[in-house]
Amino acid sequence: MDRKIYYFDNNATTAVASEVVEAMQPFLQSEWGNPSSAYFFGHHLGKAIDEARQKIAALVGADSREIIFTSCGTESDNTAIFSALETTGKRHIITSAVEHSAIMSHAAYLQQKGYEVTYLPVKSDGTLDPAQVAQALRPDTALVSLMYANNETGVIFPIEEVGKICKKVKVLFHTDAVQAPGKLKINVKEMNVDFLSLSAHKLHAPKGIGMLYVKHRTPFKPLIIGGHQERKRRGGTENVPYIIGFGKAAEMSLSLFSDENTRVRALRDRLEEGILSTVPNTRLNGHKSLRMPNTTNIAFDFIEAEAIIMMFDQLGICVSSGSACTTGSMDASHVLSAMGLSAMQARGSVRFSLSRYNREEDVDYVLKHLPPIVSKLRAMSPLSEAHPDNV
Ligand code: PLP
Repeated sequence: MDRKIYYFDNNATTAVASEVVEAMQPFLQSEWGNPSSAYFFGHHLGKAIDEARQKIAALVGADSREIIFTSCGTESDNTAIFSALETTGKRHIITSAVEHSAIMSHAAYLQQKGYEVTYLPVKSDGTLDPAQVAQALRPDTALVSLMYANNETGVIFPIEEVGKICKKVKVLFHTDAVQAPGKLKINVKEMNVDFLSLSAHKLHAPKGIGMLYVKHRTPFKPLIIGGHQERKRRGGTENVPYIIGFGKAAEMSLSLFSDENTRVRALRDRLEEGILSTVPNTRLNGHKSLRMPNTTNIAFDFIEAEAIIMMFDQLGICVSSGSACTTGSMDASHVLSAMGLSAMQARGSVRFSLSRYNREEDVDYVLKHLPPIVSKLRAMSPLSEAHPDNV
């Protein structure tokens, strides 16, 4: 692709780092064997997988034996829920109203099957009160599953506090930390979690590889039943090149943590302040400080986010909205709706998410082009104060 792009959609997926591609290359070409083989390939590839596992364990403060490779964040989330229900035999789970569809759709499926689900509400700034977890716990609660940081707003949940509550009453606790690497400190011990999900494509590795942390001695039932791989916890021949890439990306994300939290944060703040101060009738969605350093979600009154996205697209700017285009109708984001935004406000909200590859000039480019786009769209909108019929 020759086109110059200004990429602000890193919570959707990230560019694969060239260092990651380089680390993977030998495992796609000369070292393509099966790690289960009895001859040289087996031993050699097994060692390479172990090294990658150790790097990923280091990213989350775990022991490498607690890491299970999966195909994606969705599989990791599904596995944690499945395992908790199977091993406890209980029929109630607690989650929040703002989880990713990897949890939400699974929870809805469970309800259809007769399980019970409590969806904890969030405040208008997207934060969650941990005391609600304590109130929602029941004798038949199998699992509490709460995301670490929200993919749409970047708002952070109080995982450590919830972990303490769950530990006290011996209820299993899972966190979907898919958005966190590189941006938030992750330590499974301090967080008191039994399960934690990650997905490699959010940290500059390819799509199609993820991991589930399972705390030592936690009863476990695999979702994918097959061979002896992953110590019988996830069947299927290991995706060696992607595992190696994931390991490299984990190592880089740890070493570049301070860049995301200083330079990227400053860029995000400049973008956010620039938009809020130059474009009238705009608001930040989500808590100002309890938020990942790379994300800003902004509501633009009187217009549809989709229209901004389309006009941005012509300029090579990539952003997204929380809404999902389903069967031709635009559903408002369930996250923004749970925060109390009206369907109109939610449909007028745009998410900008940055990464270590964003530069000052990317932010300048957006700040230059956005105000005239918004003015133009508002002038066309019958709902807008700027519309000639309304002034
Ligand atoms: N959980 C969260 C919070 C996410 O943002 C995503 C991806 O957008 C997922 C889970 C799913 O990850 P994957 O795309 O690897 O299945």
